[in-house]
Amino acid sequence: MLIDTHSHIYLEQFDNDLDRVIKNAVEVGVEKIILPNINFDSIIKMQAVKLAYPLITELAIGLHPTSVNYNYKKSLNLIYNGFDIAEYVAIGEVGIDLYWDKTFIEQQKDAFDYQIELAKLYNIPIIIHSRNSFDDIIDVLKPHVSSGVKGVFHCFPGNSKQAKLVIDMGFYVGIGGILTYKNSNMPEVVENIPLEYILLETDAPYLSPVPKRGQRNEPAYVKYVAEMIARITATSYESVCKITRDNAKQVFAL
Ligand SMILES: [Zn+2]
Repeated sequence: MLIDTHSHIYLEQFDNDLDRVIKNAVEVGVEKIILPNINFDSIIKMQAVKLAYPLITELAIGLHPTSVNYNYKKSLNLIYNGFDIAEYVAIGEVGIDLYWDKTFIEQQKDAFDYQIELAKLYNIPIIIHSRNSFDDIIDVLKPHVSSGVKGVFHCFPGNSKQAKLVIDMGFYVGIGGILTYKNSNMPEVVENIPLEYILLETDAPYLSPVPKRGQRNEPAYVKYVAEMIARITATSYESVCKITRDNAKQVFAL
């Protein structure tokens, strides 16, 4: 049994064959797919997927850092006053993304901080999106750690040392298709942290693992990530699936 802890199967890339995609996932043993949110509009799309596939999907709610702009307070208000946070397994995805644009760095930090507070209030984990922003993320997150906020660094963007820092803060390391790419430093990261701190993810439709690299990603391909972790850590495929599944069940209270 596998859990894909990060999948955007509500996006238009899946409009024509989501049934097939869900079947493919079930066939390889995917038991749960967690859908992280992007902005106000995507919540409606996520909810439609949840209605159609209620047993295999779980939803997170949040404002993605690339959707943060001058109007972010209005966006946060629309999201969190429009929907019942108690119906979601996590706040996400939230964080800081300085890859494309640094214009809204202060707004991104403030939106991230605000959403961490909400996670604490509702006692649910956060799904962190971090891109070219690891130190900024830590700066915002650190003051909250003592109050018990937990979660995952999705598509973990760092090195082994940063992975250890994340683990020491009580967070999980999200590992996806990048692990299978040539020149990726993720094999070294995976070798240096216990499996007990790893969550599997696809980030579908993006970042498809080898041998599907370049194609649309889908939850079934999480098995290629599990296979690669098994190879790197000299662990059985079954153990990788079981341990990472237990991790996901624990952090998301599934
Ligand atoms: Zn994502």
